[in-house]
Amino acid sequence: MGLIVQKFGGTSVGSVERILNVAQRVKDETDQGNQVVVVVSAMGKSTDQLVDLAKEISAAPNKRDMDMLLSTGEQVTIALLSMALNEQNLPAVSFTGWQAGIVTEPVHGNARITTINTETVKNQLAAGKVVIVAGFQGITEDGEITTLGRGGSDTTAVALAAALKADKCDIYTDVTGVFTTDPRYVKSARKLQSVSYDEMLELANLGAGVLHPRAVEFAKNYQVKLEVRSSMERVEGTVIEEEASMEQNLVVRGVAFEDEITKVSVLGLANSLTSLSTIFTTLAENHLNVDIIVQSTTEAETANLAFSIKTQDLMETLNVLENNKGVLNYEQLDAENKLAKVSIVGSGMISNPGVAAQMFEVLAKNQIQIKMVSTSEIKVSAVVEEKHMLKAVEVLHQAFGLSADSE
Ligand code: ASP
Ligand code: MG
Repeated sequence: MGLIVQKFGGTSVGSVERILNVAQRVKDETDQGNQVVVVVSAMGKSTDQLVDLAKEISAAPNKRDMDMLLSTGEQVTIALLSMALNEQNLPAVSFTGWQAGIVTEPVHGNARITTINTETVKNQLAAGKVVIVAGFQGITEDGEITTLGRGGSDTTAVALAAALKADKCDIYTDVTGVFTTDPRYVKSARKLQSVSYDEMLELANLGAGVLHPRAVEFAKNYQVKLEVRSSMERVEGTVIEEEASMEQNLVVRGVAFEDEITKVSVLGLANSLTSLSTIFTTLAENHLNVDIIVQSTTEAETANLAFSIKTQDLMETLNVLENNKGVLNYEQLDAENKLAKVSIVGSGMISNPGVAAQMFEVLAKNQIQIKMVSTSEIKVSAVVEEKHMLKAVEVLHQAFGLSADSE
């Protein structure tokens, strides 16, 4: 007998019919003699609808109220799923995040889980029940309701799996696994059998959207074996583990992409030892996330600096820079919109030089200009014009042997 954590996302629990389908997937596990903890998201797009409701009342609602509101979405699903299981004579009990002992730091809207008091859940499992836990929510030491950031139910599931030392954590979703690139845009995308934690972290952070990045971090830290799989189709998914073997000696595992990127240039920046730290500290203090940074150093008195941000943060970034112009000591700001980031990811890169060179060559051959570049041990990212994004993804996917038709 094993202990399995199953997580079902919003689409998978989006209607009564689908909740009944989920009940069946739970029953399949208990029929095999397993103990099961189920983590669920809010039904369908209901979290978005709650956000819209709030917006109708306030442009900037306070974050405590937002958590109070958004945490209700998951509560609907746990109750309905529990009813569905009990209806099938499979004893089940539903718990909110706080009832399940999920304690978080005191941050509204994007809290991290600090501890999980597993006693209640363990007792119910021992009593033979399926335990259903609301994803995406927890409670602070002071008894305040918090949420874990959009997409955070994945993190609830992995954290519970780690705390309960579960044998496995299955993430059920509306796709059949993790793909070499987004199959909605690239027809030749293939499902991967396995991906390493590090690769998945890069892919999750790069906007691949299949898993919440913090869930992958948790899985890596606690070595939780994850599988991303379909709630509708009964097929094998993608396993995420420490060492994933490379198929056919490929060096790249996947191509990720993200649009709505803006490049901000700071021109005529005083060339002092502290100018960079001052700029990025100021941005960080205003919770503005900067991605790629390019600096041109010269002996001259001023230097130029460029960095990329999400386009949605542009207004605020410019405001912060302008309001601090005196301290930051630069001459001029410039912004280039309609950019995108295309990245290749694969742990095979560590031992294979020339991967970045090949990427640049492929893009050049296709007349795609690179605006900015960044690399890590297992990733190379290039910022290109948004209108070239999908073409770039396609040619890279093909060039690195990932396309179904390039085998
Ligand atoms: N319901 C939350 C969201 O839509 C959490 C989740 O689904 O993971 O972001
Ligand atoms: Mg999700």
